[in-house]
Amino acid sequence: MAYAFEDIRKVGVIGAGIMGAGIAQVLATSGFEVVLNDMSAEAIEKARAGIDARIDRLTEKGRLEPEQAEAAKARLSGSCELSALSDVQLVVEAIVERLDVKQGLFSELEKIVSPKTILASNTSSLSIASIAKACDRRDRVVGMHFFNPVPLMKLVEVIGGAATDRSVIDTTRALAEAMGKVPVLAKDGPGFIVNLGGRAYYTEALHIHGEGVADPAQIDRIMKMAAGFRMGPFELMDLTGMDVNYPVSTLIFEGYKHDRRLATTAGHAYMFEAGLLGRKVGQGFYDYD
Ligand code: NAD
Repeated sequence: MAYAFEDIRKVGVIGAGIMGAGIAQVLATSGFEVVLNDMSAEAIEKARAGIDARIDRLTEKGRLEPEQAEAAKARLSGSCELSALSDVQLVVEAIVERLDVKQGLFSELEKIVSPKTILASNTSSLSIASIAKACDRRDRVVGMHFFNPVPLMKLVEVIGGAATDRSVIDTTRALAEAMGKVPVLAKDGPGFIVNLGGRAYYTEALHIHGEGVADPAQIDRIMKMAAGFRMGPFELMDLTGMDVNYPVSTLIFEGYKHDRRLATTAGHAYMFEAGLLGRKVGQGFYDYD
């Protein structure tokens, strides 16, 4: 079956967390109808309030006309029911980073959406082919990997799995471009390009901290002042959330067969286990009260 970007008018976003809310916002301001789904009504409500506030700020700054802002808000709806996604042409999944949960969702989605609906995952580290394994139709499963914060970050990695149809990859690239993003094709594998290449930024910093050479604030300051990064590794981990960063680190380490370059630290595991997740809970490597 051939897929075409011209067919995409309505998009489902599953997971109304940090990433899902950002993806839904950019889709709506780019002219697409959006249904934002989450199993938690509270998460949808919180995401909706955040999106409305960010759209209002864009209007105040003159980046959106008031009518465009109102139209974007009107294009976005929320629902806890997966059945609300029955008439979308593409789904972007942004739920918890667990293979079994994503596979369960993709298999459930196949019963709801049309055979012509593209199923995209925003996974950071799981292979697209492994998510697609749960589906009868694997040719329409694709990776569409956005970066945090979605409204600001231009890059989107587009990843085809072993069975992904070329027209699905092309349609996903075109959608990313229509959202004002720069799509880059990446090979399917643990961490794709960015999260594999960028892993050393975190692991090296964690080891320097773990060995007592410098603390997070010193390391962050040095990486910003001397190396020109916009955020230090610890600030970035707090922004991403340890519930994403730690499992992603572990999955990439496992995927690359325990390559020592990719090994994380006991301190990192502790942050995850202790629920010191970063900004989203008010405490991570830094306090956010
Ligand atoms: P998050 O914890 O902020 O949000 C996840 C949301 O998914 C929550 O609201 C939760 O209620 C919902 N959810 C979980 N299981 C669900 C299900 N079965 N059905 C419907 N909703 C469900 O997480 P996040 O940081 O937005 O990450 C989401 C995905 O995006 C993960 O795969 C992550 O690896 C990836 N990602 C995250 C970042 C980042 O910087 N945080 C960057 C790129 C990609």
